[in-house]
Amino acid sequence: MPRPISATVHTDALRHNLARVKSAVPDARVAAVVKANAYGHGIERVFDALRAADAFALLDLAEAQRVRALGWRGPILLLEGVFEPRDLELCSRLGLWHAVHCDEQIDWLAAHKTQEPHHVFLKMNGGMNRLGFTPVRYRSAWARLNALPQVGEISLMMHFSDADGMRQGVDGIQHQIQAFESATQDLPGERCLSNSAAILRYGQGLPMRNDWVRSGIVMYGSSPDFPEHDIAHWGLLPTMTLSSRLIATQDLQPGDTVGYGSAFVAEQAMRIGIVACGYADGYQRLSPTGTPILVDGVRTRIVGRVSMDMLTVDLTPVPAAAIGSEVTLWGRARNGRILPIDEVARASGTVGYELMCAVAARVALQVD
Ligand SMILES: *Cc1c(COP(=O)(O)O)cnc(C)c1O
Repeated sequence: MPRPISATVHTDALRHNLARVKSAVPDARVAAVVKANAYGHGIERVFDALRAADAFALLDLAEAQRVRALGWRGPILLLEGVFEPRDLELCSRLGLWHAVHCDEQIDWLAAHKTQEPHHVFLKMNGGMNRLGFTPVRYRSAWARLNALPQVGEISLMMHFSDADGMRQGVDGIQHQIQAFESATQDLPGERCLSNSAAILRYGQGLPMRNDWVRSGIVMYGSSPDFPEHDIAHWGLLPTMTLSSRLIATQDLQPGDTVGYGSAFVAEQAMRIGIVACGYADGYQRLSPTGTPILVDGVRTRIVGRVSMDMLTVDLTPVPAAAIGSEVTLWGRARNGRILPIDEVARASGTVGYELMCAVAARVALQVD
């Protein structure tokens, strides 16, 4: 028997969550973000469930090739654009849409030979200061692109830094909306604005056109504004279950310690279970004692330090647990009990995004 850890992708939940996105922004078209191998789920595993989207968005040219190889003829958007001039050849060949965020990318386009003009997404730096042209420089970049025979349609794109909450006491999207509006008011072209947090929190309510949304984490069953709202609040379902089994149990006496650094000390007699899952599987080493976990669908906690291949759980609430018992690190247990990835992430000082993206290659991915 292979080591009993696996990650199961729930395609029914992916479909459900995508439908949730569509109902939140019924007038917008949805680009399903499948970067980072579909947030750790596997592009090939999510493709069928997400093909009801209007486009796929990703970063890597190799991932774009995988989506085309699956037979997708619709739009594919490269969210960071191209990384060097010859990437444009692949864009021409595969008909990829690509972001343009800096002058160099415009230079490369100007020198590119193509039969078909490219559909580009001109990125505004709306204050996040990662990619894009500042509002002051945005219009001249647009004019430069617009003059190029290599460029067809120009869509206008911006990314929100604080759509999941407030910024300096006001709605987190306010300052960026104002910057975008004043720089783009009379420019033609579709607008591509909302990420998951903006889709859920503002829906259709942005005070400007929002032709395209870029939907990532919401499709993968994690709440972008947890703990303010959990997935149940947003009507989302977990799309990934990381599960394993108990491979041993130990009976502890008061004062006995567990694992490296003896980081957990038993205060009373207790039983613990040893789970075939460690940081080499992608589980966070920093997840402390108290991090929630399900054993046979019953909620309990991990105790002691997570090691490379194992972690330890308190079996007090599950006295019947034994070698072979089902362990749910996050997701859906066989008895239907759900442990949202966001709760595990929160206890570990991170976000659901990081946990799902970190699932290691040695963990078998399954689909149900
Ligand atoms: C990753 C990414 C998204 C998706 O973000 P979520 O919070 O997962 O919805 C949207 N836009 C851009 C530019 C991205 O890089």
